[in-house]
Formats: sequence, C-alpha cells, structure tokens
Amino acid sequence: MEDCLFCKIISGEIPSSKVYEDDEIYAFRDIEPQAPVHAVIVPKTHISSANGITPENSRAVAAIFEKIPAIARELGVDESGYRIVNNCGADAGQTVMHLHFHLLGGTQGGKLY
Ligand code: AMP
Ligand code: ZN
Repeated sequence: MEDCLFCKIISGEIPSSKVYEDDEIYAFRDIEPQAPVHAVIVPKTHISSANGITPENSRAVAAIFEKIPAIARELGVDESGYRIVNNCGADAGQTVMHLHFHLLGGTQGGKLY
C-alpha cells in the first residue's frame, strides 16, 4: 500500500524502533507512548482495520497473538501485566488504517471497563 504509514515502517522507508520482526509480523515502539511500555504490533500484510479480517488473511492475526507473550517478555511486562488494544474505525479513534494492536504496560491502571 503506497500511502500507508505502517507499510512504510515495515519496509523501512520510515524508521522505527523495532521490538520484534518475523516473516508475518512487525512490532515497534509507539512514537507517542500512552504508557511506560507502549508497542504497536502489525501484520506485514496490509489489512485496513479489524473490519478487514477474513478467513483468507486471519493467519497474520493469529501470528500476532502467538507472539504477544514473547513480545511482552521482551518488553519486561509479561509478569506485571499488560493490555492489548485495537481501535477500529472513527468512533474508536483509529488514526492509521493498517490493522494494529497496541501493547500497553508499566502502569497499574486496572481494568478500563
Ligand atoms: P491508532 O490511533 O489506534 O490508529 O494508533 C496509531 C498509533 O500509531 C498511535 O498510537 C501513534 O502514536 C502511532 N504512530 C504514528 N506514527 C508513528 C510512527 N512513525 N512511529 C511509531 N508510532 C507511530
Ligand atoms: Zn499498510
């Protein structure tokens, strides 16, 4: 996707602070962290939002969730705890239209709901 910020981050055209990478997924530090630990995890394949997840591309979503424990461990929050957040669409405040999951930790905020 030519004009997609996260596709450009995945390709290296835009620099990022990499946390994890493999064939299917890429994780990097959020540029405006909302918690002491804040990473963004994306599939390398372009999916616009959670609305775009299908049986054909859901392997990339599974790959993200399979790697979340290792990424949380790498970031030092696997035992203290963390939150996984996906914002889908305008009402949820999604600003980058490439499916991504926020990993937020390092605070003792408890539940949000
Ligand atoms: P969302 O608002 O859920 O769509 O999340 C998009 C996230 O991308 C926000 O938390 C931004 O701070 C983050 N972001 C935007 N540009 C960059 C960048 N160049 N590097 C790292 N994170 C970014
Ligand atoms: Zn993209």
